[in-house]
Amino acid sequence: MIAVTTYKGKKVALFGLGGSGMATALALIAGGAEVIAYDDNPERVAAAKEAGIDTQNLREVDFSTLEALVLAPGVPLTHPKPHWTVELAKSHDVPIIGDVELFAGERRVVSPNATFIAITGTNGKSTTTALISHVLESAGRDVQMGGNIGRAVLSLDPLNVNSIYVIECSSYQIDLAPTLDPTIGILLNLAPDHLERHGDMDHYASIKERLVAASDEAIIGVDDDYSAAIAAYYGGNEHRIHRISNVSAVDEGVYLDGHCLERSKGGLHHQVADLEGIPSLRGAHNGQNAAACWLACALAGLSEAEIQAGFSSFPGLAHRMEPVLAVGNIVFVNDSKATNADAASMALASYDHIYWIAGGLAKEGGISSLRQFFPKIEKAYLIGEAAPEFAAVLSDGVAFEISGTLDIAVHRAFADAKNGDDGTERAILLSPACASFDQFANFELRGEAFREAVIDAVGPVGCENEFTEVS
Ligand code: ADP
Repeated sequence: MIAVTTYKGKKVALFGLGGSGMATALALIAGGAEVIAYDDNPERVAAAKEAGIDTQNLREVDFSTLEALVLAPGVPLTHPKPHWTVELAKSHDVPIIGDVELFAGERRVVSPNATFIAITGTNGKSTTTALISHVLESAGRDVQMGGNIGRAVLSLDPLNVNSIYVIECSSYQIDLAPTLDPTIGILLNLAPDHLERHGDMDHYASIKERLVAASDEAIIGVDDDYSAAIAAYYGGNEHRIHRISNVSAVDEGVYLDGHCLERSKGGLHHQVADLEGIPSLRGAHNGQNAAACWLACALAGLSEAEIQAGFSSFPGLAHRMEPVLAVGNIVFVNDSKATNADAASMALASYDHIYWIAGGLAKEGGISSLRQFFPKIEKAYLIGEAAPEFAAVLSDGVAFEISGTLDIAVHRAFADAKNGDDGTERAILLSPACASFDQFANFELRGEAFREAVIDAVGPVGCENEFTEVS
């Protein structure tokens, strides 16, 4: 745990007692703060009490005695409307912060030279965070990975100058971190997302921008207009801005050219890494993630060879274009995390002969934005509530069937792929472009169900004798 000493002897209110809220309360207490915690859910309040945390309805607390209100990232700060604790804090001029702010403040005081890499963006945060951590670790560095990706930031090991802190930051966490000052800040991309929590795109972008605004070194994707504008704004005469692109060459940065990463520095361009044949980094979107990772790791002192070795051994993250099994040239790919058309487009762009399993709980806009990929779809297998809607879009030119459930879809797709086998790579791809909640509790369980259906369809004899497990 990272004990937060910056609030020693001070009174702090904390609202939101989920995993990160509990970790934050304990870290503040360990550092000597007086913490009063609360949650709307009585079970969470009881669990906090059990863990030795003082709890009280914050409506009964005199906010003028507080040094800060610490919010869990899920609690609305501005939209759709400020939470009641936020109104109370504002009316008493009490600063409102979150766990990433406490981490940043503690690092400044206790271990300012501990490398702190912060990653944000609309898409690719977890992949980039995991990739950076993997590359650094495989080069022998001590890595502490956390934040939005899993372990709460304050439950990481105590601050230490020899550790590298690789922290995924959601926009909610950045919104609660007014003095965020990472050593290396990464903004991958910006696209409309979670606008119900942030009002409009300008506000959303202005929050994300804060992650790179005060970083010592900033790595910024320039393939969307908002991120490009941010890079241009800070890029004037400053040498701390590094650009990345998976679309075209950039000045002072790293970009994807075919399957290679090229570095551009002082007008010179040279190849620094090759992503060909690395299944976990397939697709142009992963070129953006790898470019960000390359720069972050190079800035952290790794050599080209160390970074290339780390790329090559990256196992990838589950449920994100995860190759599950390969049967000859048929590969089963689990992209259950693709819960909207934008995310599914990354996987559809990455394969040429696709048996596409899609559907679930449809998102606004459906799949009509994916038309450009339809010629690559051998056949679609539709599941869940969205099946009739998707069928209507596919009916002008794409073969499809309404399979209903995931296991039927997998069996049918496997039979068709075997029949269609002409020696070229065929992908049986779960990339649903939908939420999972009509048939599954979450996308992870949907991905697990896919994996089980694949093993079932392939059969035990096949698994032992014929098939190569590729992940
Ligand atoms: P996040 O943590 O930001 O949600 P993930 O790394 O979990 O992102 O990836 C989620 C999905 O987003 C992936 O399945 C992929 O389809 C897509 N994706 C990954 N990286 C990028 C990127 N750089 N640009 C656009 N989409 C991406």
